[in-house]
Amino acid sequence: MSDVSADQTADGQNAPVRFRSVLERFVAYKPGKVVVSPEGRSFKLSSNESPHGPLPSVQEAVERAARDVNRYPDNNATALIEAISAKYGVPAAHVAVGCGSVGVTQMLLAAVAEPGAEIVYAWRSFEAYPLLVGLSGATSVQVPLREEAHDLDAMAEAINENTRLVFVCNPNNPTGTVVRRAELEAFLDRVPADCLVVLDEAYREYVRDEEVPDGLTLYRDRPNVVVLRTFSKAYGLAGLRIGFVVGHPKVAEAIRKTYLPFSVNSIAQAAGVASLAATGELMDRVEGTVKERERVRDALLAAGWTVPTTEANFVWLRLGERTMEFSAACDARGVSVRPFPGEGARVSIGSPEENDEFIAVAEAFPHRN
Ligand SMILES: *Cc1c(COP(=O)(O)O)cnc(C)c1O
Repeated sequence: MSDVSADQTADGQNAPVRFRSVLERFVAYKPGKVVVSPEGRSFKLSSNESPHGPLPSVQEAVERAARDVNRYPDNNATALIEAISAKYGVPAAHVAVGCGSVGVTQMLLAAVAEPGAEIVYAWRSFEAYPLLVGLSGATSVQVPLREEAHDLDAMAEAINENTRLVFVCNPNNPTGTVVRRAELEAFLDRVPADCLVVLDEAYREYVRDEEVPDGLTLYRDRPNVVVLRTFSKAYGLAGLRIGFVVGHPKVAEAIRKTYLPFSVNSIAQAAGVASLAATGELMDRVEGTVKERERVRDALLAAGWTVPTTEANFVWLRLGERTMEFSAACDARGVSVRPFPGEGARVSIGSPEENDEFIAVAEAFPHRN
């Protein structure tokens, strides 16, 4: 095998592998990039992460778990599921975990999607949806946002007998907008009982609008509704990859069957348990981020920007054709944001210092939106 040159291998001539045609439509995932200012400063506001490192108690749990990595993880994530069950007041049989909520999303699709099936979601919304729907072989049905928010009437109308799953991202990534209880309940009433509704609540801990329902109060009477949560945002464990879903036991059971064995690793499980034990400290941090969010938005409004009310840990600036110009202006000061070319930029709430830097760029930018 050693005399096969890299070139021969790379051009595929010796290996005419047939790939799924769906792969041709995909571009590789672009991670939030790291940019550095001329002074060597770098502020990463592109991926909605927590600006805080792990709490000492969580770090300790990680270090302890690291001593046992010669062993396989608990495939049932028993302690983690017990801790989630206790924290949220739901039976353990209602919970399924996965490798980040992206991993859980893939599990949900593996449980219900197949060629011919349709998956409905708002657009623009979370970028993982089209990717994972495409990989599942099902068809994406994207319903445009109205005034930066879910158009639940249009989404209900987009549902037909082929629809197997609907995502409702609440608050919506990247616009930060929410759907409130009355409109969400009216929507759920219109969804056929055999169609799964996924309430993606990745940013639930940042919500302060009391009219926004906690999905955990909605799923109990509705067997086709599941609630998706993550440890990546408020819990500050984006690098460890833990997400979970709460639903009726039959649904949770079906979802668990699609789990890639051992994909929530043992360090992640230990860190998840330790984080749930430190919820108070973590929610204090979230409160700080919420205060900063309001400060950032107020500063942008004062500078003449239009910024939708946001209930998440980011703000959305609809910039249209000026999006990349704005993103470049941020890059030049070492602030990385998440641009969607031709649409707008999403900017995470970071530490006060990082937010000040972003505000300074926005104030100096020659155009408003
Ligand atoms: C960040 C985010 C998630 C979390 O993904 P993980 O895989 O858990 O890191 C899920 N849903 C939405 C809408 C998000 O923005």
